[in-house]
Amino acid sequence: MMLSRLSEKLQNTLGKLKGKGKVNEKDVKEAMREVRLALLEADVNYKVVKEFVNKVKERAIGEEVLESLTPGQQVIKIVRDELTELMGGEATELNFSDKPPTVIMLAGLQGTGKTTAAAKLANKFKKDNKHPLLVACDTQRPAAIKQLHVLGDQIEVPVFSMGDKQHPADIAKGAIEHAKKNQRDVVIVDTAGRLHVDEDLMTELKQVEEKISPHEILLVVDAMTGQDAVNVADRFNEDLALSGIIMTKLDGDTRGGAALSVKKVTGKPIKFIGTGEKVEELEVFHPDRLSSRILG
Ligand code: GDP
Repeated sequence: MMLSRLSEKLQNTLGKLKGKGKVNEKDVKEAMREVRLALLEADVNYKVVKEFVNKVKERAIGEEVLESLTPGQQVIKIVRDELTELMGGEATELNFSDKPPTVIMLAGLQGTGKTTAAAKLANKFKKDNKHPLLVACDTQRPAAIKQLHVLGDQIEVPVFSMGDKQHPADIAKGAIEHAKKNQRDVVIVDTAGRLHVDEDLMTELKQVEEKISPHEILLVVDAMTGQDAVNVADRFNEDLALSGIIMTKLDGDTRGGAALSVKKVTGKPIKFIGTGEKVEELEVFHPDRLSSRILG
């Protein structure tokens, strides 16, 4: 299951409270000490942890929770609500243009799952009766263009490419023209990645952004890289007008910290999560559902 270690630890700690008829301030403080450790171990940003724990403590001790009939359950509810809030509260919808095509630009470091995410989105839109077009703008790695074509064939979505000699901004612009002529209503632009953030990459991405003014710029980050994912998001957010985040690889034994702290740190919501390598394994992100999964 997703974030299973964190989930197990929190459930253990909070489970102890649930069983108690009476809960006092000391019990809450002790439980919150354990919650704090579990979150830090899951690689949640320490400032985010501190703020979170203080908020839960304040509410649990301050709102006459401890005098209620089910104090343990009330405390758990507060943890659940605050976790949901931390991850952005409500699910955040994509911004579709009234005037098609809607243009979605993907950005992210190499290996995060950007190309896979492009195909996953295209597959989802196709199921929603839209007519997506995938665009290969990763001119750094010819293999990436090939990979997008393979994925496009697999899900039967057309792929627009112009090889690796043109500027990505021109390819993206060409793709939008192509989409208009061919009634494709969502254009998904896969861009180049690098192993690390560098100025050349940022310049290239900004040029693409300026040329096509996307309706959505989604940053793809790898949950397995923990706080690094959040730092990378923070960095991309400085240069690009990100509208949201796709957090990949939340399956497996990800510690999960990035999913919990990226919204708080960058102000940008997670819109989708990747839960596997298969093209269907993309979910709209619902913060409340993830808190419920974590807390059981
Ligand atoms: P890119 O370099 O960012 O375009 O990354 P790719 O799309 O090529 O993906 C890199 C690797 O991550 C591939 O082996 C994908 O199958 C894998 N991958 C992508 N998304 C997910 C995910 O949500 N879960 C898991 N387990 N693997 C993923």
